[in-house]
Amino acid sequence: MSTATRWTSTHAGSTTAEHHRGVLLATALEYANRGWHVFPLTPGSKRPATPRHTATDCDHTDPWCRSGHTGWEQRATTNPDRITRAWTTAAYGVGIACGPSGLLVIDTDTPKPGTAAALPTSGEENLASLVAAHDGATLPATWTVTTPSGGVHRYYTSEHLTTPLGNTAGRLGALIDTRGTGGYVVAPPTVTDTGRYEVTADDQAAPLPAWLVKQLTPRPAAPVSPRELRPVTHRSAYLRAVLTSEARHVSEAAEGGRNHALFAAACCLGELIAGGSLTEADATGTLLDACAGHIAAGAFTEAEAFATVRSGFRRGAAKPRTAA
Ligand SMILES: [Zn+2]
Repeated sequence: MSTATRWTSTHAGSTTAEHHRGVLLATALEYANRGWHVFPLTPGSKRPATPRHTATDCDHTDPWCRSGHTGWEQRATTNPDRITRAWTTAAYGVGIACGPSGLLVIDTDTPKPGTAAALPTSGEENLASLVAAHDGATLPATWTVTTPSGGVHRYYTSEHLTTPLGNTAGRLGALIDTRGTGGYVVAPPTVTDTGRYEVTADDQAAPLPAWLVKQLTPRPAAPVSPRELRPVTHRSAYLRAVLTSEARHVSEAAEGGRNHALFAAACCLGELIAGGSLTEADATGTLLDACAGHIAAGAFTEAEAFATVRSGFRRGAAKPRTAA
């Protein structure tokens, strides 16, 4: 279905493709006015309209590429004349290049249809768990967009940061990506073949909270394994037995039951964390070590395991328990 067809069919009689192009242009100019660098997307898709080639395919005939390949991030602009020229020729979707715009966008997604949903697995739920797992953490109200697939984009400003943040996939949790330098978002009122991008909160973009900056700042490569870095704690025989037993339940779980075993073990250790018998770092380390084999086998990613562990801790926190 073409963009124009979709637009007119979803807005029966009230508008035309021409009007839609005007709205796209006006919105692109509005974004530029906020300092957000925009570039055109191929109508109906999420792909940049230019360049159509990659750096490896670049033959330097594109005027932008004469003295070296220039990608969408460099072509993105706040210049009203360039924006007007581009959006006068076609109903391009609006892409925002996050890096030059000083934006860090948190992108939560919904599970793909058909994914087994034994655990809370939407990006929104995982993000809520992440917030709950951080003392005093909040997600400030900010410019927010919903995507055709049911995803949510929260736009935060990153201009206050000394180190630019790049893109991440799953670092904050399963089905949570972030877009920064080297990344872009499809912005409203873009319409693709799958649907429309819509603003759901038109608050001013808020600065990225410090606790998230900390989570997203790349750590320098550790010279020793996390196991060696883990603090030595004095555990009672009972606590050692619980940790060993829960770790074994996880590491020995059969295919199909691994995620559940991890969640159950995290619930159990979460009760002990809530009771003050165990630190969260210690329990996380034990559980991630225990599922290292499953991660290596591709049962789930470390980020997914981490999200499951956090969900379990949260569940366990409702039933604090101490281990003498
Ligand atoms: Zn090029």
